[in-house]
Amino acid sequence: MRVLVIEDEQKINRTVCQALREEAYAVDAAFDGDEGEELALVNSYDLIVLDLMLPKKNGIVLCRGLREQGITTPILMLTARDTLEDRVQGLDSGADDYLVKPFFMDELLARVRALLRRDTTVKTPKLQLADLVVDTSSHRVTRGNTPIELTSKEYAMLEYFIRNPDQVLTRTMISEHVWDDEFDSLSNIIDVYIRRLRRKIDEDFQPKLLHTIRGSGYLLGILPEDSVITS
Ligand code: CA
Repeated sequence: MRVLVIEDEQKINRTVCQALREEAYAVDAAFDGDEGEELALVNSYDLIVLDLMLPKKNGIVLCRGLREQGITTPILMLTARDTLEDRVQGLDSGADDYLVKPFFMDELLARVRALLRRDTTVKTPKLQLADLVVDTSSHRVTRGNTPIELTSKEYAMLEYFIRNPDQVLTRTMISEHVWDDEFDSLSNIIDVYIRRLRRKIDEDFQPKLLHTIRGSGYLLGILPEDSVITS
């Protein structure tokens, strides 16, 4: 899952980005309204953390502008003052939730998880496909009764797959939702991670879940044998 943090206070921006990265999100940072808007329009984010008071363009104007341009990404608004007016304005501009500063990082992370759940039909933190279970709150992964140890990036990739089961995900989609702006599109890193993930979640188990769809991308799902060319 890829998150954009738009916050002009350097320290808060850095702390929020760091906490999100530790939870395996890919994170980009913007420090004013214009920079934030540009990134939000160019990249496909799964969630935006948006400060209300920002230089160049404030959070309300920015949020409204993104909604008018068809960006439906969940937005968590940060407000410095807990006034009814700020909260109402924020929600009316198209934000999905708000958090009043100062806040506890654990609460921000919980709200981020809740907003990411809102778009799916599954409302529990546990996502399941066959006997593969991914707990998005603890990041524990199991197949049957076997716990599977994943690195942060492997986990991030698996979470993106299991949130979009039975869909062909292209390399571009994977890079946009699992990596941040530093991603080098010429590298073969996605293939490397697919191989590692497959070794961990599929090698010793049946049915195989992570499939290569030749010429298109990858799919996490249960496929009838011989229906596609898999590797
Ligand atoms: Ca601010």
